[in-house]
This record gives sequence, C-alpha cells and structure tokens, in this order.
Amino acid sequence: MAERRLKFWGWGYDDERVTVDERKALRAFYAGRFGVDGFSETPEPRLEEFELPAPRLAPPAALAGICSSDPHDRLVHALGKSFPDTVRMFARQVPNLPDVVAFPNSEEEVVRVLDWADGASAAVIPFGGGSSVVGGVEAAVGGDFKGVVTLSMVGLDKIVEIDRLSRAARIQAGIRGPALEAQLKPHGLTLRHFPQSFELATLGGWIATRSGGHYATLYTHIDDFVESLRAITPAGSMESRRLPGSGAGPSPDRMLIGSEGALGVITEAWMRLQDRPSFRASASVGFKDFFAGAKAVRALVQSGLNPGNCRLIDATEALVTQVNDGSQHVLVLGFESADHPVDDRMARALEIVRDFGGNVADDEAAGDNRAGAVGAWRQAFLRMPYYREVLTGWGIIFDTFETAITWDRFEEFHAGVMARVQAALAEVSGSPGTITCRFTHVYADGPAPYYSFHCLGRQDSLLDQWWTLKRAASDAVIDLGGTITHHHAVGRDHMPWYERQRPPLFGAALKAAKGALDPNGILNPGVLVP
Ligand SMILES: Cc1cc2nc3c(=O)[nH]c(=O)nc-3n(C[C@H](O)[C@H](O)[C@H](O)COP(=O)(O)OP(=O)(O)OC[C@H]3O[C@@H](n4cnc5c(N)ncnc54)[C@H](O)[C@@H]3O)c2cc1C
Repeated sequence: MAERRLKFWGWGYDDERVTVDERKALRAFYAGRFGVDGFSETPEPRLEEFELPAPRLAPPAALAGICSSDPHDRLVHALGKSFPDTVRMFARQVPNLPDVVAFPNSEEEVVRVLDWADGASAAVIPFGGGSSVVGGVEAAVGGDFKGVVTLSMVGLDKIVEIDRLSRAARIQAGIRGPALEAQLKPHGLTLRHFPQSFELATLGGWIATRSGGHYATLYTHIDDFVESLRAITPAGSMESRRLPGSGAGPSPDRMLIGSEGALGVITEAWMRLQDRPSFRASASVGFKDFFAGAKAVRALVQSGLNPGNCRLIDATEALVTQVNDGSQHVLVLGFESADHPVDDRMARALEIVRDFGGNVADDEAAGDNRAGAVGAWRQAFLRMPYYREVLTGWGIIFDTFETAITWDRFEEFHAGVMARVQAALAEVSGSPGTITCRFTHVYADGPAPYYSFHCLGRQDSLLDQWWTLKRAASDAVIDLGGTITHHHAVGRDHMPWYERQRPPLFGAALKAAKGALDPNGILNPGVLVP
C-alpha cells in the first residue's frame, strides 16, 4: 500500500480534516469569545497555488533513486508545524525551500547523502516527523550554501533487536510513534513516551529535541529512556556503549541528546522499555484558587508518590478545552503500573490534595481516563493540533509556549508572565485576548508551566502580530528566570533567548564540538550554534 501523503500546510495526513460538527462548535465558541458574528475565511492552500523556484541542486545519479525535488515533497519539508509555519502556508508564502529531499533507507545511504552534500557545499537538515514548532527544520540556512538538502529519516523505521532480559530495544531513528508502539506491543513492551505529536514525530526527532512525553513526573524527557546512541556526522560515525549507567566522564549520549540536527544525524538508539501497564487510576480535582492547586501539586510531587499524570489546568484553559465551565481550576491526576494496583497511591494523593482545598469529583476517583473531565481534557488534547488549521484560516492567533521554574519563584514568575503577555495581547488585538496555563510536567523542585494564548488577529499581518506576542512571551520567560524551552527545543525561533540563557563559555564549547563533528558547518546551520 502506498504511504499516506502528509498534509503540507497543516497537521496530519492529506485525507484528514476537522469534522463539520467540530467546525461548527469552534465557530460558535470563538465567535462568542470575540463578540463577532463569524469569521472571514482564507481557504486552505492548494499545491498549484505555490510558485516554487527551480531546485539549485541535482543529486548524483547514484543517489537519484532516493532523492526528490517534487513540489509536494519540497513543501512538506520546507517548514515545521508551528503557528507561523501554518500562517505562511495560508499566505502561500514559503520563502525557504529545500532543493532536494533525500529519503535514505539505510545508514549507508545517510553517509552517502552527507558525503555528497558536503562536497557540493549544500546544507543538510535532518528531518523526522517535521513536527518542530520552533523553526527547527525550516530550510532557512543563511550563509553561502549552494543549496539545501533535507534528509528525511522516515525510511529508517524498524525495531532491529529486542533484549527482553534488560528490557531494551535497538530502534531506528525514523520510526514514528504509532509504528514504534505497534512493533513493541506483541512483546508486551512499550516505550510509553507519548508527546502530543506522537502520531507524526519520530524517535530521532524526540531524542534530537529532548522531547517531553505524557509522564508528569519521573520519566518526563526522552533522555531517561536512552541507553545508547549511534550517529553519523560529516567527520565519521560515533556510537556509545550500552550501559545502565556510567560515571566515565561527560556522557557522549548527552552531547547528542538535544543536538537538534546540528551535530550529527542520529540513526538508531538502544531505548529502555517498560512492561505495558495494566493497573490504572485517574481522578480530577477542582480548586477555587490556582496557587492552592500549585501548592497541592508541589506537596504531591515532593511526597514520592510520583503520579504519571499530574496536570494542573487553570480555569480559563479548562473552559477553552471544555473540561468544565471555567468556574474551577482542575488537577487531572493519574497513576499506572504494570506490577501492582495503584489505588492506595491514589487514595493518599487525594488526601494530600484535600489538605489544600481540592474537591475530588465523585464519579472519577474510580478511574476511567476516558470519562468525565479527564476524558474531556484528553479528547481536546488529541484534537487540538487539527483545530489550529481552521483557526488560522479565520485569522485567529493561537499558540503556546512552555518553560520551567523552581517553586520558590513560581508565583511571582507566573504572575509576571501572565501580565506581560496579556499586555502584548491587548497591544496587538482590538478584541480581548486570552492567556491560559497548565502544568505539563512537575518536578520536586518546580513545575513546567505551559501557556496557551489566543486573540483575533488581522489576516494581513498575522505573522507580525505573532512575533510581537512571541517576543513579549520569550522576554518575560528569560527576564523572570525561566528556561526558553522545557521540551519544544531551541530551533531557529528561540535562538536569541537561548543565547541569553546559556553561559557564554558553554556556547564556545558547543561551537568547538560542532567544529570537530561538522567542520564545514553543513548540519542544520543556524540552530544551536549561531
Ligand atoms: C501539535 C504538536 C504537539 C506537540 N507536542 C509535543 C509534546 O507533547 N512534547 C514535546 O516534547 N514536543 C511536542 N511538540 C514538538 C515536536 O513534536 C517535538 O519537538 C518532536 O520531538 C519533534 O520530533 P520530529 O520527529 O517531528 O522531529 P522534526 O520536527 O523533524 O525535527 C526536530 C529537530 O530534530 C532534528 N532531527 C530530527 N530527526 C533527527 C535525527 N534522526 N538526527 C538528528 N537530528 C534530527 C531536526 O533537524 C530538528 O532540529 C509538538 C508539536 C506539535 C506540532
């Protein structure tokens, strides 16, 4: 069967759209919020509306069979899936395109593509699922490159070997989330790393961006699951030893985890796995005061109970995602285990949250994570990526940013971020704008708050308006002591703030590492190393 074509201008596959009922509900909701009757709509983009420049490069005959300059392939690989990416697609304006997209099916073919590109002075952008929301795969490479080759890794999509005894598997980097879990399922195993972009994103992309999965505590980042790594760089290949732990100097894996395609192409990894959970409990807890909910979360995460799900959702976000009517802040709580019942842990967790004024919803303590407020949140979470393509067509600016901060500074930080972004929303939009917050991950020493904002934009200046908001949010996060990203990565969009965050000497060391691995600087230029 032919591989389903990806949608080049939005989330998912070409044959998928938001349903008529979903559209109707979205229109009613957002028209109500902005106090308008309806929205003028920019129709979804069609391939024939794009005028693409001729490719500046042609692959050598030996690579022609795995390379493409087909317009659909070039557009799919031109941008990621951020709000400004969708806006540019709707404006039919994509200034930077790869000249060639290479689809290697083996590590040897990855080596040959890198060799050719290096010799041809072309930049190479490693590309997994293309779900970057930070400009990480955008073909905007600057410099004097003679062209851009985007290296799609999705042909390397196998689980090569399973070590049942150590509960680990050797997995190729281009495998997408659903195929990875489907191939592990017959063995009773799971990676259990479920970012919201699970459907399209790949293992290599997760590792290269230090992605955050669904676990609120303990195993939040993909880092924790990496046992060893193999990568191809323009200077040669490197592979680390499989070890459960090691104190032998700085870790070679740590150099590649989070390297965002700028240091090497990750081709495979040994990943730590888990048994599939069979015991679950979930509950939702209401709070009148957001900071009381945050205090309850801190007590929970410092208790050692380690809930798998521990998402505090502020009342406005609960309203927007239709978890409730916006009258309460909601804590979505979940435990799971493959080995033992988790009811005792849930019972103790509920005692803790009650101490902070939490109201436990009666019908849910028993634990079906597809019912009630928990289920409503889950459904909104899964459908949100699709809704954005409709909202963009209506000129609604809808985006998110995420960070982390220690508990001692959280309240002041949160109040400052909310106020500064609220002010920026008022500046760019005549209609009332909204910013909401939830915790996606929590640590004993602090939460990872995830902010969503929306406002009615002007169709002719969505990109400028978005940049005003993005700058306000990023300045606030860095000025107030947070990180420019907890799990979305740096990409091109976050570079100015990443440079403010990292120590200058570390920047110099990273540059030197790039010089050793990628002497001509062809790998994802402009990302991580200016
Ligand atoms: C709707 C939506 C929801 C999201 N939810 C989450 C979430 O819950 N958690 C989260 O962490 N992120 C999330 N993201 C961001 C994004 O999905 C992650 O950054 C993800 O890890 C990217 O994986 P990918 O395979 O799509 O990588 P890509 O987008 O293709 O690439 C991302 C970066 O990794 C590099 N790269 C990709 N593959 C390789 C490789 N094999 N070797 C070296 N470098 C490589 C690229 O060059 C680029 O710099 C979301 C994005 C969207 C659009």
